[in-house]
Amino acid sequence: MAIIDAWVAPTAKSKLVRQQVELGPLGAEEVEVQVEHCGLCHSDISVLNNDWGFSQFPAVLGHEIVGRVVEVGPAAKGLKVGQQVGIGWTSQSCMHCHQCMSGNHNLCPESTFTIVGHKGGFASRVRAHWAWTMPLPEKTDAAEAGPLLCGGVTVFNPLAMYATPTSRVGIIGIGGLGHMAVKFAAAYGCDVTAFTSSESKFDEARGFGAHDVVSSRNSAAIKKLAGTFDLLIVTVNAPLDWDALIASLAPNGRLHFVGFVLEPIPVGVVSLIMQQRSISGSPIGSPVATETMLDFAARHNITPQTEHFPMSRINEAFERLDAGKARYRIVLDADF
Ligand SMILES: [Zn+2]
Ligand SMILES: [Zn+2]
Repeated sequence: MAIIDAWVAPTAKSKLVRQQVELGPLGAEEVEVQVEHCGLCHSDISVLNNDWGFSQFPAVLGHEIVGRVVEVGPAAKGLKVGQQVGIGWTSQSCMHCHQCMSGNHNLCPESTFTIVGHKGGFASRVRAHWAWTMPLPEKTDAAEAGPLLCGGVTVFNPLAMYATPTSRVGIIGIGGLGHMAVKFAAAYGCDVTAFTSSESKFDEARGFGAHDVVSSRNSAAIKKLAGTFDLLIVTVNAPLDWDALIASLAPNGRLHFVGFVLEPIPVGVVSLIMQQRSISGSPIGSPVATETMLDFAARHNITPQTEHFPMSRINEAFERLDAGKARYRIVLDADF
């Protein structure tokens, strides 16, 4: 039994209030982590607003968690008290289904999301299954690592699955996800084009490693890139000129979604068939993909560009992210 301090959303769309919360007994395969930093992700706002219809209240949000192990359940493997770890969007999966046994734990139909029916990281302590509690490499800057655990692996995973160092890659949307995608793709050796609707981000996108920057609203400019890209990763949730973007794919090219574009996209199958193109999507990444990403990020000194707030100013931080003002990820530092 443990009483923790947490920032709680009592109902949908409410302000967060500081409360004490009881966690109950620690599960045999769980570990308990003292939270040091927790990133604020757009998905926290979506769950707060119940945009996806599966939120549960009262909710403790926060799923880009960095902290130290303070307690280890008797059947938890590979972790010890004092170790610095990270926890992301998923805090548990069943560990016995076909997907979990294949190493695709992120596709487990029975996984637990860290902030849905489970207490998340805007708290003094948080719990997760040992398999989803990732040790941080020694070189990792713990204060900056939070956003890697959700947004970072979400964009790293499609690069690891579909890109090679010689690929021409386009990253659509230069925000919380997209700026990390540009850094990863550039470090991997890809030729990287950033697509953004905001001209104010052109120079910054080049600073993240983009070799070229194109306005995502300029259909004529996109049409000039016909047949270019091996992989386009869509990190935005807004409708775009899909015809022009699909035409910008090289033969065997792939348009890949990690942003929730909620409107159906129109697709003409002829251009898919004749150029053998694909359209796909993926959610976060498995524990092994996350560890690989953390290792890659540490080796190449890749960190998200962040703004820090003390966790006690959490409501202000939510407003800033919701207003689209964050450049590019917000991290809250625990101050209970
Ligand atoms: Zn997230
Ligand atoms: Zn499973």
